Amino acid sequence: CGVFGIWGHEKAAELTYYGLHSMQHRGQEGAGIVSSDGVELKPYKGLGLVNDVFKHADFDELSGKVAVGHVRYSTQGGKVIENVQPLLFRAQAGSMALAHNGNIMNAHKLRGELEEEGSIFQTSSDTEVLAHLIKRSGNEISEKTIANALNKVVGAYAYIILKEDKMFVALDPSGIRPLSIGKLGEAYVVASETCAFDQIGATFEREVLPGELITISDEGLSSTRFAMREQRKMCAMEYVYLSRPDSDVNLVNIHASRKRMGIELAKEAPTEADMVIGVPDSSISAAIGYAEQSGLPYEMGIIKNRYVGRTFIQPSQELRELGVKMKLSPVRGIVEGKRIVMIDDSIVRGTTSRRIVQMLKKAGAKEVHVRIASPSIQHPCYYGIDMSTRKELIAANYTLEGICEQIGADSIAYLSEAGLEKAIVKDKTLNQGICTACMTGKYPVKEDGQKEVVFTS
Ligand code: 5GP
Ligand code: SF4
Ligand code: MG
Repeated sequence: CGVFGIWGHEKAAELTYYGLHSMQHRGQEGAGIVSSDGVELKPYKGLGLVNDVFKHADFDELSGKVAVGHVRYSTQGGKVIENVQPLLFRAQAGSMALAHNGNIMNAHKLRGELEEEGSIFQTSSDTEVLAHLIKRSGNEISEKTIANALNKVVGAYAYIILKEDKMFVALDPSGIRPLSIGKLGEAYVVASETCAFDQIGATFEREVLPGELITISDEGLSSTRFAMREQRKMCAMEYVYLSRPDSDVNLVNIHASRKRMGIELAKEAPTEADMVIGVPDSSISAAIGYAEQSGLPYEMGIIKNRYVGRTFIQPSQELRELGVKMKLSPVRGIVEGKRIVMIDDSIVRGTTSRRIVQMLKKAGAKEVHVRIASPSIQHPCYYGIDMSTRKELIAANYTLEGICEQIGADSIAYLSEAGLEKAIVKDKTLNQGICTACMTGKYPVKEDGQKEVVFTS
């Protein structure tokens, strides 16, 4: 998912729309905006793409100098309008809107406890739990009640919480999800990805820190901590696949890090071939890096139909397979008779790689050597990225040779964990760690709240 917030701009809701649009790749199931004029919170949301949801929106109705927005793709909770965020809660003591990126691991348990004590939930989303916990901590929505509530939830989260006259911004104690602060003139801006700042002409100010709780109001910005400072564990998949190439995540540019992944991959797994091609769009940066390092030409061997959405987000395997077919086509005149290194950023189920190898061979490619610019994914993600169950992960069920056979490649190799880390982490300070749990099984946060013990040099 993607979250966006803006404080102190005449065109708050419209700018939120543009910000969400630039983060459309983070979720395509639904989108919403809640604005505040200081007196009342006003929501507008729907299922589908940002453009479709707001096609008939009247931005004059979403008045006020403050707004929060969200683009959703579901990890917990179904694909229904109730679960589209920001969630809005109205109470006599004041209203609250909530936008969340991440996943609350103990949501089920907390919800059970809350229901036993009399709470009734409107949604099946894990996000709603936090709203109940805040209200349980005291009647007022304040730094104190929010900090109390945050200390009860375990998982990965970037939250924007809006009440009529204040905006709160919080990041989980391990900083697994990205969240940055920017400025547009006098206005404060908050976004999952910095590409949203560029989109609206805002400038990047700083990262939200792990365990930090920021309050923004007409008095300005203030910061406190609700949790102890820990080693940051930024999601490595943000770099590998999820974020936009023009975004800087935790101060590291996405395109540049992907290129370095390709460079490391070429060092670790060189290949005799005629050309390097990347699977559009997310693997092009890594393919450029691989070509540069290996001295092989980078070619456009596959093109993408830009009018088809991301395959991964389709609901069923059947539709996913169909989606891949509609989405990518080989460039026959380029690949015919050639030995090809095909770079993909990652393999989850293996659907994409299998189809592309088939497609390239059918178009006359002599050899297809698959090189993956990240380590193999063998473990589920509990922090908000939909990798589903182990059963579906090809690398959890086959050996390297087995995978090679399954996808019909002439050879296959993955980037090592060390190579990935080298490509992402600039210096191993407290703020520069990454989560690699889906690849290594080293989970930085456990459901019972236990943390991996980290020693830093
Ligand atoms: P597969 O077809 O192996 O299941 O999926 C891998 C492909 O899907 C990669 O090319 C990657 O770019 C894309 N993809 C889409 N969504 C995701 C995601 O959430 N995680 C990862 N790792 N890859 C994804
Ligand atoms: Fe990201 Fe993988 Fe960690 Fe999930 S388990 S947060 S996808 S690196
Ligand atoms: Mg891809």
